[in-house]
Amino acid sequence: MSYKKNSILIHGGIDGDVTTGAVNVPVYQTSTYKQDGLGKNRGWEYSRTGNPTRAALESLIADLEEGKYGLAFASGLAAINTVLSLFHSGDKLIVSDNIYGGTFRILDNVFSHFGITYKIVNTSHIDEVITALDEDVKAIYIETPANPLLTVTDIEEVAKVAKENGKILIVDNTFLTPYLQRPLSLGADIVIHSGTKYLGGHSDTISGFVVVKDKALADRLYYLQNAIGGVLAPWDSFLMIRGIKTLGVRMDRHVENAGRIAQWLQKSGYVSKVYYPGLKSDPGYEVQKKQADGAGAMISFVLDEKYDYKVFFEKLQLIMLAESLGGVESLVCHPATMTHAAIPEEIRKSVGIVDELIRLSVGIEDVDDLIEDLKQAIEASVRR
Ligand SMILES: *Cc1c(COP(=O)(O)O)cnc(C)c1O
Repeated sequence: MSYKKNSILIHGGIDGDVTTGAVNVPVYQTSTYKQDGLGKNRGWEYSRTGNPTRAALESLIADLEEGKYGLAFASGLAAINTVLSLFHSGDKLIVSDNIYGGTFRILDNVFSHFGITYKIVNTSHIDEVITALDEDVKAIYIETPANPLLTVTDIEEVAKVAKENGKILIVDNTFLTPYLQRPLSLGADIVIHSGTKYLGGHSDTISGFVVVKDKALADRLYYLQNAIGGVLAPWDSFLMIRGIKTLGVRMDRHVENAGRIAQWLQKSGYVSKVYYPGLKSDPGYEVQKKQADGAGAMISFVLDEKYDYKVFFEKLQLIMLAESLGGVESLVCHPATMTHAAIPEEIRKSVGIVDELIRLSVGIEDVDDLIEDLKQAIEASVRR
């Protein structure tokens, strides 16, 4: 029987503990496993290679993403590192022009040392993607909506171009989660997550995921996961399974709150720009509606020049100034000096990550309290 997504969140993967019937998969806090004789084990040898708690989580994320094979890592960047290790010296990647700062950093200053290059492209314009294709390009790496300007890329359209040209399509699905968007079913080859964000959902665990459908690709990724070693610990795997159970109810509220706040911001007169693909006026609105079950809960905006953004951050009372996103609590950040500081100023400015840009991760608090907090902080930040 095939279940719908709200049931998979609770019962997907390995449902409960196979040996004891415990409703929750226990934390198998062990590094190694007794072998019954030379070459005779019970399916487990060493916890970098495999651990039952992690395996339960890995099969759960595979089910949720409509993939076949899931892999859990110690962080989103450990997942990205492992995926980038598929490539060889001389290979090139096409990358979305506003991506997570850490993804840019590992490409620009780690993998570049091994002869792997990248080309930054506005992937919401398919002709720019096509123009950038050449022999050396092995993969297209996108985020949609991208970080921090919520630019939407048409996954199906890029997947088609990737397939026709024999390139791999990698999608970072952190901002929407499989609850709202399933890139593998839209034609992507590899899905990446920072589980630290919505999947965990409580701002208490760092984790990352990779999900694929293809067996050969999965085999190479499992090999790399074990060879590189950035695996997720048993306890953190347990916390992720626990977090994922409530993903649906959290996302519903996140999206509802974000929609209300985006509309309020747009009408408020306080801002010169609002970036949110759930707004009809947003250039990504139609594609977002077509390919996802909601616009997510990340909003970016530029305060009108009447207001001092530095003062605004200090005046907030309920909403906290912090890195990260996707937790139950609302967080704001300043991309230019925080999440995207690793991106050189010229690139940042040219894509629109200006100093006045504010990124808001809308939590699941009472939306009226959030709007009230934004309002009082903006009004208290009028330049004198
Ligand atoms: C946070 C984030 C990452 C990195 O994940 P970590 O868990 O912090 O290593 C990658 N991509 C996106 C979109 C993110 O928001």
